[in-house]
Amino acid sequence: MSSAQQITVLGATGSIGLSTLDVIARHPQRYQVFALSGFSRLAELEALCLQHRPRYAVVADAAAAAKLRGALQGAGLATEVLEGEGGLCEVAAHPDVDAVMAAIVGAAGLKPTLAAVEAGKKVLLANKEALVMSGALFMQAVRKSGSVLLPIDSEHNAIFQCLPTDYARGLNNVGVRRILLTASGGPFRQTPLGDLQHVTPEQACAHPNWSMGRKISVDSASMMNKGLELIEACWLFDSPPSKVEVVIHPQSVIHSLVDYVDGSVLAQLGNPDMRTPISHALAWPERIDSGVLPLDLFAIARLDFLPPDEQRFPCLRLARQAAEASGTAPAMLNAANEVAVAAFLERRIRFPEIASMIDAVLNAQPAQPVDSLETVLAADGSARAQAEHWLSHHGR
Ligand code: NAD
Ligand code: MG
Repeated sequence: MSSAQQITVLGATGSIGLSTLDVIARHPQRYQVFALSGFSRLAELEALCLQHRPRYAVVADAAAAAKLRGALQGAGLATEVLEGEGGLCEVAAHPDVDAVMAAIVGAAGLKPTLAAVEAGKKVLLANKEALVMSGALFMQAVRKSGSVLLPIDSEHNAIFQCLPTDYARGLNNVGVRRILLTASGGPFRQTPLGDLQHVTPEQACAHPNWSMGRKISVDSASMMNKGLELIEACWLFDSPPSKVEVVIHPQSVIHSLVDYVDGSVLAQLGNPDMRTPISHALAWPERIDSGVLPLDLFAIARLDFLPPDEQRFPCLRLARQAAEASGTAPAMLNAANEVAVAAFLERRIRFPEIASMIDAVLNAQPAQPVDSLETVLAADGSARAQAEHWLSHHGR
């Protein structure tokens, strides 16, 4: 028997999934791929299976499963192919798995990520939407199962690195004054406000510093990504929204900071490459090589900081409101945003209408307290229906 840790990578064909497999491949003695999942890119998933030889692969449905099964058997691979949400939950919670990379995008990742948490796995959380939607329930499940939850989002990974190991005693009790969440400001930080009406999906997806999937790229352009991250930080570090301040830092070299009552401010720096937080979380509390180049401070030369402009980035205000309203509000915010981003990518709405749609959905229904996953899923469903309704009146 090998002593390598068995890793499930949910969302293996995506940007985070591929970066994770790149790190894993650098440490074959340490890590073995147990399961891989993919959704639409079947040929890419097949190639990843040939390279990493997982015990399981998970695809969207029966037709995709039959196709992949045939291809893998033809290549002499023993990989078992599962399908759908049930398959994802099975490989996330499988008794032989040590750690799960949760890198599916959006609400689709909620149940598989929760399955990993409930099974007490080490969970590397990239899928921020899952935590934003189900916050209190998610964190209760972490405490109940003893799951080790490690943030992959570069900002939260940075904050985790800057906090003392006993931060769970409460931020006040460990002397934290504020969390400073950095944001690049995305591709439209300096675009004249009037021109935002005309920006295209291609421009929105061309992030100045990071190469990412299309949904999070649009979220970065609208700064909804920072809004979701504000909510994510509140849950991960048990912080009120008022203690989390957003700082625009265009170079994306400082990945976030923690401000202590004695005036000390700790920051984590590095090149903008997700393999750093992925390696950190995989090996924690040890350190391993990630393939990321050393930071060249002389080449960077300067670091800039600006306050966020709420007129330019209304999504940030909407997210802060949802964080303060709590209950089902973050799930509704997330659902409306997923519908809005998809509509923008399909050119059915203009960029500034992403915020208009979310605002309309949040105003249509008051937040409810969250007592169960059913409440969260119902809020997600009704917010999606409200958003589609808005789209049928205002979209193209
Ligand atoms: P991506 O679009 O590149 O990849 C998404 C993955 O999810 C793919 O493997 C896809 O097959 C899978 N997927 C999509 N829809 C699915 C569905 N309905 N059911 C099952 N699987 C589905 O996205 P990404 O950029 O890798 O981001 C993944 C997650 O990580 C997101 O939650 C994002 O916010 C977060 N994240 C990404 C980055 C980054 O640098 N890319 C940084 C921080 C956080
Ligand atoms: Mg981030």
